[in-house]
Amino acid sequence: MGKVRRVDLSPDEWLVGAATLRPDERGCYITVCCLIYSYGGPIDDDDRDLAKLCNTTIEKWRRIRASLLARRKLFLRDGKLSNRRCETEIARAASRPPLEEWRQIRAVVFERDNYTCRYCGKRGGPLECDHVIPASVGGAATEENLVTACRPCNRAKGARTPEQWGVA
Ligand SMILES: [Zn+2]
Repeated sequence: MGKVRRVDLSPDEWLVGAATLRPDERGCYITVCCLIYSYGGPIDDDDRDLAKLCNTTIEKWRRIRASLLARRKLFLRDGKLSNRRCETEIARAASRPPLEEWRQIRAVVFERDNYTCRYCGKRGGPLECDHVIPASVGGAATEENLVTACRPCNRAKGARTPEQWGVA
């Protein structure tokens, strides 16, 4: 999961979801959700850090945290704080573009690279489109981050950058 810079916000859904929260709880809730988006996943359940980031005292934060957990606005995943809607949006942001769009991008990348694997120079054969910066760490499915790769090279590279793979 990578950093998420933009998310879809449904104002009505947000207002309904936060309707029963007190003002200080709302403030902490939206701050924690933004932190989860910014980090790209569940965040450390650190009272001191979170109180500071929410601009409140540790005592108040602990009370608000307990309330948000009890109301299931937040939940703990492996000891870290998370939120269901945030997790859904992060997964969506990390996923590939719609199939038709992906096919078009891929065709452009293959053509640009003259149907040649950028890693080993082999031309033709079953070709794949590799994310240079892996999608799993936030690499975008854009022409700038995509290259043509033969299947063996793509499999060998896996979810690593060319530097990590050692062919840069
Ligand atoms: Zn290759």
